[in-house]
Amino acid sequence: MEDFLIEKVERKSKVELPENIVFGKIFTDHIFEMEYEASKDGWQKPTIKKFENLSISPAAMVFHYGQAIFEGLKAYKQVNGRIALFRPEENVKRLNRSAKRLCIPEVDSQLALKAIIELVKIDKEWIPSKPGYSLYIRPFIIATEPCFGVRPSESYKFIIILSPVGPYYPEGFLPVPIMVTDKYVRAIRKGTGDCKAAGNYAAGLIAQVEAKKEGYSQVLWLDAVEQKYIEEVGAMNIFVRFKDEVATPALTGSILPGITRMSVIQLLKDWGYNVSERPISIQEVIEAYEKGELIEIFGTGTAAVISAISKLKYNEKVLHFSDTTPGELALKLYDELTGIQYGKIEDRYGWITYVE
Ligand SMILES: *Cc1c(COP(=O)(O)O)cnc(C)c1O
Repeated sequence: MEDFLIEKVERKSKVELPENIVFGKIFTDHIFEMEYEASKDGWQKPTIKKFENLSISPAAMVFHYGQAIFEGLKAYKQVNGRIALFRPEENVKRLNRSAKRLCIPEVDSQLALKAIIELVKIDKEWIPSKPGYSLYIRPFIIATEPCFGVRPSESYKFIIILSPVGPYYPEGFLPVPIMVTDKYVRAIRKGTGDCKAAGNYAAGLIAQVEAKKEGYSQVLWLDAVEQKYIEEVGAMNIFVRFKDEVATPALTGSILPGITRMSVIQLLKDWGYNVSERPISIQEVIEAYEKGELIEIFGTGTAAVISAISKLKYNEKVLHFSDTTPGELALKLYDELTGIQYGKIEDRYGWITYVE
């Protein structure tokens, strides 16, 4: 494997991070960057260097046709002082799946993993050690060729940046209100819904803004064809706990295959729950609620880990859960996953990669 060029800079500031860090607003001293030129036979010059503004042509294809993909994972300072990543090889795999779909050249997985590890190592001083805090890692690839032609770009940048983040729920693990939308759709089968493609998020903003106006913090998307089956929430997958079953929508092509989702399914199976991946209609959810057979609903994703749902609005119907207390299973999963991430619970699945 090619050696990285490392241009180390001094830490920007030694000041303590603020008590309430706003998600994704503070960045560390370094970035990882590597460039692709079709004419030069692939990805070149993996470099770790100073975090500063990019210089890119205003004609770069990413600005016009949205050829951009990203990933999101975290580095945790464990209770024993070691720095841990949670299933980072899965993020790299997913990055390459997204790349393929958007006609972006894939990156060498070993090199991408090494890039994440080396960058975190260089900026490890930035990982907060307080409980619930972590260093968010954002790898992304953008098309940089200056050209108005509608075709895949012939040059790209693969960049990784880091951002120290606080606990998702600074006031403690609180359930959130969610609104089901049938006015807009997020993604359709055979589209890019199962990729972390930048454009997916732009398309979903309007529904999120409208939900916020009504006091709901996120949107639950329905399938784009029939507007009948639940798909996922914002940047989270969704689980519905019925009386005798924990169900999550099957990955049909329009849902993002979450790494937290995959880990939750594994844990639930091993705990002996009846878990299924299948179509779940919004009607089924409402009927189960009315019969008293709906126990809890929660979202799963890297940022919040587990997000309990306090109420679910669908047109005129509002299903109420607790505003203050997360469901029993949501809490148990939260404790288990964060326990493994922070090294308080044994890593019995080999999910942890140590940075050092
Ligand atoms: C990132 C993301 C998720 C969650 O994936 P994780 O790998 O668990 O973080 C779910 N849905 C969407 C739309 C996402 O972008």
